Amino acid sequence: MDGVERPAWAPGDIDLGRPSIARVYDYWLGGAHNFAVDRMVADKVLADVPVLKSVILNHRAFLRRAVRFLLDQGIRQFLDLGSGIPTVGNVHEIAQAVDPGARVVYVDIDPVAVAHSRAILTGNPLVNVLQTDVRDAATVLKSPEVLDLLDFDRPIGLLMVALLHFVSDEEDPRGIVASYRDALPDGSYLALSHAGYEPGEWNPAWNEARNTYNRGVSEMTYRPRQEVEALMTGLDLVEPGVARLPLWRPDSPDDVDEGAHRFMSFGVVGRKR
Ligand code: SAM
Repeated sequence: MDGVERPAWAPGDIDLGRPSIARVYDYWLGGAHNFAVDRMVADKVLADVPVLKSVILNHRAFLRRAVRFLLDQGIRQFLDLGSGIPTVGNVHEIAQAVDPGARVVYVDIDPVAVAHSRAILTGNPLVNVLQTDVRDAATVLKSPEVLDLLDFDRPIGLLMVALLHFVSDEEDPRGIVASYRDALPDGSYLALSHAGYEPGEWNPAWNEARNTYNRGVSEMTYRPRQEVEALMTGLDLVEPGVARLPLWRPDSPDDVDEGAHRFMSFGVVGRKR
């Protein structure tokens, strides 16, 4: 776009005039890999729904707790779909702190997320990055990035954190999850977080934020609890099942916010038998 200077870290082929989910999210998380156009949308959405900042932080906190839980179950290889722009507490950092031999493949559609992931992962042979659309499960699962690093004879931790609300009903999120689930070896896990609400509880304050987001960045689909649970079909849910983000295995009782319902998001982990 004219008048916008391209920073050295930005790949040459991206449009600096169009916001992206990954960069808007990066801005909310306090990262530096975003442009004025991303910040404009992000600020507008946040002005409509100030609690969103906590929501985002709670998705990241869920990611951290879920990865630790999977490590406790013996999982040592992870496929992180919609991994985003690396920020503090990425999956490989959490996993390799527990086991330096842990393997991670990051997948994202966003060129900035992928370029920045590659940059920070140089020299880490147990982590790969793949730029592709995760809705195309066959391409992801057949990619050299995945096949070279992940052993499909051993359980894998599949992560879909704050991802599937960007997949519309028409794009068949259940079918997409099933394609990955069916390819995973028994004993694998899926950890998923999703924007959602209890039936009858839709908060009208969210309409404006959703509309701004949908117009500016990407269509977002909030799903009621039972639809989030339906995404986990074929998996045994670990306690506490589908839960408000702060209520999914909190690190300490202090983490459990009385206003957990405000977070309008769920977290869940399931195991393939
Ligand atoms: N999982 C990360 C986290 O929890 O911090 C990032 C979440 S961010 C809200 C969603 C990410 O999903 C973005 O980086 C976006 O580019 C990516 N994404 C959205 N749709 C995608 C698709 N169809 N294929 C691959 N990545 C996608």
